[in-house]
Amino acid sequence: MVVPEEPTPARVVTAAAHGGTEAQLRAWPRRPARLATAVVEDLVDRIVGGELAVGSALPTEPVLCEMFGVSRTVVREAVKSLEGMRLVRAQQGLGTRVRSVEDWDLLSPVVLSASVRHDAERSILEDLISVRRALESQMAAEASRSATEAQLGHIEETLSKLLAEDHDTARFFRADLAFHDAIMEVSGNRFGRAVIRTVNTEAFRSLRYIGEPTLEDMRQSNREHQEIFKRLRARQDAKAAQAMDQHIIESWLKRRPQVLPHR
Ligand SMILES: [Zn+2]
Repeated sequence: MVVPEEPTPARVVTAAAHGGTEAQLRAWPRRPARLATAVVEDLVDRIVGGELAVGSALPTEPVLCEMFGVSRTVVREAVKSLEGMRLVRAQQGLGTRVRSVEDWDLLSPVVLSASVRHDAERSILEDLISVRRALESQMAAEASRSATEAQLGHIEETLSKLLAEDHDTARFFRADLAFHDAIMEVSGNRFGRAVIRTVNTEAFRSLRYIGEPTLEDMRQSNREHQEIFKRLRARQDAKAAQAMDQHIIESWLKRRPQVLPHR
């Protein structure tokens, strides 16, 4: 594969897609984006998995080029991405070193998905459940206060689909996400919704997160979904929040393979 070492001149793109307004956007010079992405994913996995330990130096540029069979441009691009994810820091005279775990940008999807993958103690999954409990309960309360009749109708539709999917796990998971997402959308909390969506997208790739629910588990879960909707429709914001919180923690306790000390 030929990779351009010289950046091509920036192109100017006209975007008229949004709201009919024409904006002139300066396009990035063409970059070997996909190649760099593959290198990034590999390096993120080695860092998060501990093969490249905290404090250790990344291999030098020529070594990385050799390792991945890519050009310096690609390696530099990849290392820049790692810096952006706060996984490594370039320091003069010290090379590029792996930063401490506390610095890592867990909301970067690549870092999050690697963290879930390598989360042997399930501490990331536990944290993730805490975040879902806090944010989704609050958003359920907001939704119950502010939902219009049409919005309640939309949530009810997603609930009906979910109730019809209690015999197929893959379809159930999709319908479950859609129901939770409809409530978050109605809450109007766009940032909270964005956080939960990022978290869920990566977590749902992990079998340890989704477990293997039985038919009875799915039916129990759906009774909880109905309770959440009942409280929403009755405009009982505190009870809607409580029903959401219980649903998230209880379904987690059920699918979590072993009980960990309470955090
Ligand atoms: Zn659910």
